Amino acid sequence: MIKFGTRSINQFMQQQKDLFGHYKQPKIKEDSYVTGLKLANSLKGSELVPFIPINGRQVNFYYCGPTVYSNSHLGHARTYLGIDVIRRTLRDYFNYDLLSVMNITDIDDKIINGAKQAKQDFLEFTKVWEKDFFTAMEALNIELPDVITRVSDYVPEIVTFIEKIIANGYAYDSNGSVYFDVQKYVSDGHTYPKMRPEMNVELLQEGEGESQVNKQQEKRSANDFALWKASKPEEPKWPSPWGEGRPGWHIECSVMASAILGNPIDLHAGGIDLIFPHHDNSLAQAEACFNCDQWINYFIHLGHLNIADRKMSKSLKNFLTIDEVLKRYTARQIRLNFAIHQYDAVMNYSEEQVEQAISKDKAYQEFFQNTKIYLRESSVIGPQKWTQNDFQINYLLRNTKEIIHAALLKNFDFPTVIDAIDKLINQVNVQIANKTVRPPLLQSVVQYVNFILGLMGLNYQNQNNTSTDIQQIMAEVCSIRDQVKLAARKGDFDAISTIVSQKQFQYEKNLSNGIVDCINHFQQQVLVASQGKNKQELFTLCDKLRDEQLFELGIKIEDKDKQQASIWKQYDPKELKLEREQQLKLIQQKELIKKKEEEKKKQEELEKLEKAKIHPKDMFLSQIDKYSEFDEKGIPIKDKDGNELSKKQKKVVQDLWEKQNKIHNQYLESLKKQQQ
Ligand SMILES: [Zn+2]
Repeated sequence: MIKFGTRSINQFMQQQKDLFGHYKQPKIKEDSYVTGLKLANSLKGSELVPFIPINGRQVNFYYCGPTVYSNSHLGHARTYLGIDVIRRTLRDYFNYDLLSVMNITDIDDKIINGAKQAKQDFLEFTKVWEKDFFTAMEALNIELPDVITRVSDYVPEIVTFIEKIIANGYAYDSNGSVYFDVQKYVSDGHTYPKMRPEMNVELLQEGEGESQVNKQQEKRSANDFALWKASKPEEPKWPSPWGEGRPGWHIECSVMASAILGNPIDLHAGGIDLIFPHHDNSLAQAEACFNCDQWINYFIHLGHLNIADRKMSKSLKNFLTIDEVLKRYTARQIRLNFAIHQYDAVMNYSEEQVEQAISKDKAYQEFFQNTKIYLRESSVIGPQKWTQNDFQINYLLRNTKEIIHAALLKNFDFPTVIDAIDKLINQVNVQIANKTVRPPLLQSVVQYVNFILGLMGLNYQNQNNTSTDIQQIMAEVCSIRDQVKLAARKGDFDAISTIVSQKQFQYEKNLSNGIVDCINHFQQQVLVASQGKNKQELFTLCDKLRDEQLFELGIKIEDKDKQQASIWKQYDPKELKLEREQQLKLIQQKELIKKKEEEKKKQEELEKLEKAKIHPKDMFLSQIDKYSEFDEKGIPIKDKDGNELSKKQKKVVQDLWEKQNKIHNQYLESLKKQQQ
């Protein structure tokens, strides 16, 4: 640890600068591709450093993959979602040409122990957890790297690499293991550890793995770390000039990154917990092998993840697997939840804090739904001259773009990006509600918002990335169904039998097998109905396929008129079901309102009829609490106290009598008509 002692902050800052004085900022050359992007480079103590790739737009990118021995957890989600967003942004926003490599650590102490406990061969064991990892990544819509390197595939390269380090004088073999000679390395003018110059020996040993703790006597110095470990009996082993053994953890990344990307490499990333000793040792090994002083130009680190203010661990019972979290939230909500936090800052995960992501997700969905409807319903044929509102929206859009550009240049500041997008959406929502924005301008806004959310892997416009398998099979399903309907209309039952007997659909990779079951079952039922010449049953089967079986799988078939082929669309089945439920509810509500109105109308008519039945002569006679004397027509003359009605009162009762006389006569007329 660095001691402040009595030194001033200035002295401390000066020392900090010197600590990272080894860093050489890549120079801008004639063919350099300069975007203005700055990265928090751990090689310069997290200082923001202009990003200049070695070869024009090309960016060589290596990031540390998982050690596969257990379930993928939320910590993995944070690291790989963060890297996924960075990759998309470098490629899609800044237009860099990326080659990205991720390793799989399938040789490690934890793996050897885990396989032993599971009574499995270590490669069988790692296959299970590697699959778990990639399944989780896919579920979170995390793109695969361009290259995957497994340690077990690179052992010969690792041996050659270590031989070179020994030849350069920076490693020695001892009792069948090989160690890195830290003292020799430093005394030759190299810097170690580059990114955590303040680190101590205990932490170094922690990274060495359990099997090395008692091996101090084999080393020349306590700081030396293992490149090659002599294997114990029953442990996996590979041949080497130093006897049978296996690679150390840190050497893997030095070797596999250089095997694909060479030396030097533009960009390296990984979780912050790997910065020391893993990343510092990886750097030292590669620089010792290539005899260079800067193997990696930019090293970035993803921040820690705490669960409800505590470190995630199995013992604290706050360990969350990606599977568990995906049962509670959609991938979009999880992605958004991480994107709200700066990638290299400490993040605290809690249920309450996910609520924020859920409400944002909902707001984005609503925005795209509303703009879709607005654009569908408004016509460009209408008035297009910009009003004050359009000028305002245009200003806002351009201003948002500037804010977002500046934020992305500043070490991918997505919290600021999201804030700017939210403000833009809120303003545009008001204009949509008031119908005061020109459709072409709104379209520009929608495209931009979609593009920026896309950098975070959020897709609201085409939520389903339909696979080619589904495209093919659904095209066939629609065609068969259309043909069955057409033939049924003509009563051509033989043709139907032929149509549905032509093909038995097979299960395909990447395809929801439910669709295959569905279509095969449909064909069987149609065959039976056509043999029974049951026309109505055939139409019912076609409807059921559309409204029930395929619908359940998230597929919506839309029938066109008789001349046109039907079309199909794919949705998230859960969202489609929810949509149908909401629609049904809406229809039920409307029907209920309609029914109530009808009943009310009926009641009013009934009352009107009852009133019309009363003869005008009888209408006041029963009101003895108001009147005491009536004329020959039944119109009141005196009130209940025997006083003559005033002129005004007489006028009122006279009018009422006339009105009743009119409706009663109408009633009598209608009775007469009914009798005729
Ligand atoms: Zn690594």
